[in-house]
Amino acid sequence: MERQQIYDIIVDNLPVGFSIVDKDGIIVDFNSTAERVTGYSKKEIFGKSHLEILHGTNDKEACPLFKHALERREQSVATETIIRRKSGEIIVLSVTTSPLFDNDGNLIGGIELFRDITELKRLERERKNILSMFAHDMKNPVITAEGFISRLLSGKAGLLSETQKNYLDLVKEELDGLQGLITDFLEFSRFEATECKPVLGPFNIEASMRKHIEIAKVEAEKKNIKIFFEGYEGIPVANADAMLIGRVITNLLDNAIKYTNPGGAVTISLIDGDGDVIVRLKDTGIGISEDHLPYIFDAFYRGKRDLKGSGLGLSIAKIIVEAHGGRIWVESIPGKGSTFSFTLPKNR
Ligand code: ADP
Repeated sequence: MERQQIYDIIVDNLPVGFSIVDKDGIIVDFNSTAERVTGYSKKEIFGKSHLEILHGTNDKEACPLFKHALERREQSVATETIIRRKSGEIIVLSVTTSPLFDNDGNLIGGIELFRDITELKRLERERKNILSMFAHDMKNPVITAEGFISRLLSGKAGLLSETQKNYLDLVKEELDGLQGLITDFLEFSRFEATECKPVLGPFNIEASMRKHIEIAKVEAEKKNIKIFFEGYEGIPVANADAMLIGRVITNLLDNAIKYTNPGGAVTISLIDGDGDVIVRLKDTGIGISEDHLPYIFDAFYRGKRDLKGSGLGLSIAKIIVEAHGGRIWVESIPGKGSTFSFTLPKNR
């Protein structure tokens, strides 16, 4: 068999849609999977502008091939785009694009690999709706139950025996945990449904950190954990949303205390980086094993299941930090401790 024939068979049998366009976006190659996904046959589509046929427009912004491969000459990875099938049906594609150059480095076109993810997106929407409905409907009964238990505990509804008090204390503790879970769920589903949009302004990270440390000390002291703050006055003011970053600090501090054994320490430092402020929380806790490390910022991922939690704290922190244009990362040695760091842009 000739090389060309082998190439054609491979391309035709790829499990993803494959198309090649010239530098003007005219389709010059299209495989069988691409035919099935779009509903157009090769004959119908060869020599036509993929922009008009698949996106139904002349606006290059609508198309990842133009946006990345042809205009910016760079590769894109799994961007999402909407196209119209021949039948008129609108579908969602996950697309990877790459520019093509000849031997002299001249741009000659672009290559595109795509998959129909319409069904996946529908299931994802359903999951998000169920999650937020569930968390919403759970919230009120929990708050009401907590209110009544507090009244019972205060003695307003009559005196309680020691045993009754102990039982109610236990129920209240469980309900507090449940309320924390619901708050995390609600916050996460809100960020998923609408993007996280920080309201930026001058943000004094030093003062905010001191406030959060004071609050965290209550839990830390119960475990005899020391919190050291190596902040210094004069750290540059950041450009951030105070409420959202407060949530990041709380999540990281709570984790540092939760995953550190009694008698340990948490050290917080603020570093004046090049263009940003770096916030660092180092604990002497249980650390994170290599198996868990790549996944701990994923939603619902939990490394230690014997401690209470939602698996959402770090993913919420990541969404917030990245919405500020910052980065968040972790270094950890199992049995020795973990260091979480994140950056925030400076206020200019
Ligand atoms: P969780 O509710 O389980 O604490 P998070 O999203 O806050 O959820 O954290 C995800 C996982 O990352 C945790 O289950 C835990 O395994 C790990 N982790 C987070 N912070 C620390 C830390 N400071 N030390 C050790 N492990 C941690």
